Amino acid sequence: MRHRIAVVGGGPAGLTFARVLHGRGHPVTVLERDPGLDARPPGGTLDLHEGLGQRALEKAGLLAEFQQVSRPEGQAMRILAPDGTVLRDWQPRPEERANPEIDRRQLRDLLLGPLDVRWGQGVRQVVPGARDGVLVRFEDGREETFDLVIGADGAWSRTRTAVSPVTPRYTGVTFVETSLDDVETRLPDLARLVGDGSVAVYGANRALVAQRNSGGHVKVYAQFRAPLDWHTDLDLADGAAVRARLLALFDGWAAPVLDLLHHGTVFTHRPLYVLPVSHTWTHVPGVTLLGDAAHLMPPLGAGANLAMLEGAELAESLATGSGDPDEAVRDHEERMWARAGRWAELTAAGLERLVSPDPTQALALFDEVQPS
Ligand SMILES: Cc1cc2nc3c(=O)[nH]c(=O)nc-3n(C[C@H](O)[C@H](O)[C@H](O)COP(=O)(O)OP(=O)(O)OC[C@H]3O[C@@H](n4cnc5c(N)ncnc54)[C@H](O)[C@@H]3O)c2cc1C
Repeated sequence: MRHRIAVVGGGPAGLTFARVLHGRGHPVTVLERDPGLDARPPGGTLDLHEGLGQRALEKAGLLAEFQQVSRPEGQAMRILAPDGTVLRDWQPRPEERANPEIDRRQLRDLLLGPLDVRWGQGVRQVVPGARDGVLVRFEDGREETFDLVIGADGAWSRTRTAVSPVTPRYTGVTFVETSLDDVETRLPDLARLVGDGSVAVYGANRALVAQRNSGGHVKVYAQFRAPLDWHTDLDLADGAAVRARLLALFDGWAAPVLDLLHHGTVFTHRPLYVLPVSHTWTHVPGVTLLGDAAHLMPPLGAGANLAMLEGAELAESLATGSGDPDEAVRDHEERMWARAGRWAELTAAGLERLVSPDPTQALALFDEVQPS
């Protein structure tokens, strides 16, 4: 196989795809919009499941390295009531490796390895059916042709329009994220509250969730149901104003819980969007999608895992297939749609229960999914 293959996007999906293909001796072009490695904060920690993200890393030959840097203790999960009462305090057994956590930056560095990413290459449009392949139009006006273009360009994918007219819709739930550094020394009480993994506090239609990352870094997510324009009278760049609004939203919650919000200075607005459950399209030769570009779903621990496994499987099929990439792509689409459809349903139902008028739903969901 010596086809000109490009993957648009250097997130978990694109990098896993490229790494597995590269590992099997096939050239692949990674086109990433970010101008460089540290162009923006990489985001919070990810749990990689044994049968999904970890399987992808195994296909990439990176499982041993993952086991060295990931944090099995990060699987710990504590649930509190808004008054601070501890409702659940689950600690993983020492040998528990079902869902260890890894920082996104560590995962990216692991996947990047020898890959030669073309940074600063924002794609504006992908046009299939051109005379000599699939035309890629860049944001800076350049054009280039490939035999196969894989859209791994996330929620607001530009590649998606080549295969599907569907766009993401708002779920009615918004996250506002803040970060705390050096918690062990600066905020020891808060460090104890979060523990080695996550703490979640559920109230009616709102929740506060904090997750430990490596190096004493904690990410906090205020989650609530709100119309998309809830912030029209608020300057989202004004950290103190956003903090005050969030504290008002969680008014009455116990002081140690509100401490999660008190120390944040920069707040990132993340309204949650999704693609329709079981989003599919009529196959278009020369173009396909991976990850969030294909099946954006609520962030309940599946998106990056699915994205990585799809990337690894497609790369493997392309590398070992009959030589007709279209056959491998069709198989990939069928397999991806079936698996992602099941997860999209689960995560959509999960979000309804986690940010629900009835907070006992969140606890019930935890009891259903947590290993004993
Ligand atoms: C708060 C939060 C917590 C989450 N926690 C988890 C978790 O614990 N476990 C889990 O499995 N999932 C989790 N997810 C979901 C996960 O982040 C996504 O599903 C995953 O990142 C999808 O990977 P991707 O490669 O498809 O897309 P992305 O990670 O979005 O990567 C897309 C890449 O494409 C680039 N790009 C975009 N547009 C263009 C363009 N036009 N041209 C070139 N490049 C472009 C972007 O810069 C980016 O690098 C979480 C999500 C959120 C918001």
